[in-house]
Amino acid sequence: MNRSISKAVVIGSGIMGSGIAAQLANAGIACSLLDIVPAEMTEAEQAKGYSLTDSVVRNRFAAAAIAGMVKRKPAPLYDEAFAARIRPGNLEDHLHWIQDADWVIEVVVENLAVKQELLAKIEQHWKPGILVSTNTSGISIEAMSESRSLEFRQHFMGTHFFNPPRYMKLLEIIPGQHTEPAHVDRLREVAERALGKTVVIAKDTPNFIANRIGTYGLLVTLREMLQRGYTVEEVDAVTGPAMGRPKSATFRTLDLVGLDTFLHVADNVRENVQDEAEIEVFTVPEPLQEMVGQGWLGEKSGQGFYRKL
Ligand code: NAD
Repeated sequence: MNRSISKAVVIGSGIMGSGIAAQLANAGIACSLLDIVPAEMTEAEQAKGYSLTDSVVRNRFAAAAIAGMVKRKPAPLYDEAFAARIRPGNLEDHLHWIQDADWVIEVVVENLAVKQELLAKIEQHWKPGILVSTNTSGISIEAMSESRSLEFRQHFMGTHFFNPPRYMKLLEIIPGQHTEPAHVDRLREVAERALGKTVVIAKDTPNFIANRIGTYGLLVTLREMLQRGYTVEEVDAVTGPAMGRPKSATFRTLDLVGLDTFLHVADNVRENVQDEAEIEVFTVPEPLQEMVGQGWLGEKSGQGFYRKL
């Protein structure tokens, strides 16, 4: 018996959370989008006389993500009518919204401790029957949920969307050791039928399938380029449209993914493999670490391998 999914809560309104919320809304699924409360006010907010307790400030991240979707092209994928199906909120005040959701998707920063803490908070409002998934790029589903109740873990799995969710058809579903097959089937069905995804069931191994291979390829490319003195433009010229990849080339992809996120994803494999050669391959070259250290995070910060104009 597969109940359909009509209400979702997406937690984390960054690159992926906002894209996933938009795709759900476009598929007719009412969606709440939650994020943390901003720590400080912007100058514009101060000038308007707001305080940190005003809802417009507290919901800023999620509201900004929704406004960003409307502007994105091509329309009408993300038009205002679809965006109106997304309700912005802040985690602190609105986590109880998950009580009447069918599906909760965790899409916050790629950090095990942050995700574990968030799952603990989610469980406080969770009821059996609500599916919970994580969009982690590769952190262990078991490790993330090890302190949760067995019943919660039966409803918990990885649903790894790819960037950008509106174009990328692939969805990896990663059951944990305790995930009920019926719950996997339920999400698989909604992903295939409502979201048009091609689902691959992956094992709970570091970075699952796609990111294990993809991270390897990107790191080898980066290292080769540095050692042989090729430029970013040269590598992108041979790994982009000329190779039949219409949208993305190597470094444009990294900028889109977010260099900080890529670093976390690569670290996750390096920390979880034993073989010396594998450890070496998955160690991120110094220049990329330095870029992240100085705030060059890719498109989201305006500067990565390319500068956003
Ligand atoms: P992002 O940096 O764009 O957004 C992360 C969001 O998490 C931000 O809005 C931030 O405010 C929020 N956040 C930070 N700390 C938090 C906390 N303690 N509690 C709640 N929210 C918090 O990141 P992203 O690229 O959207 O990645 C989100 C997840 O999706 C990560 O697990 C990442 O590995 C995964 N993912 C990313 C990509 C990609 O291409 N960027 C692709 C697939 C999966």
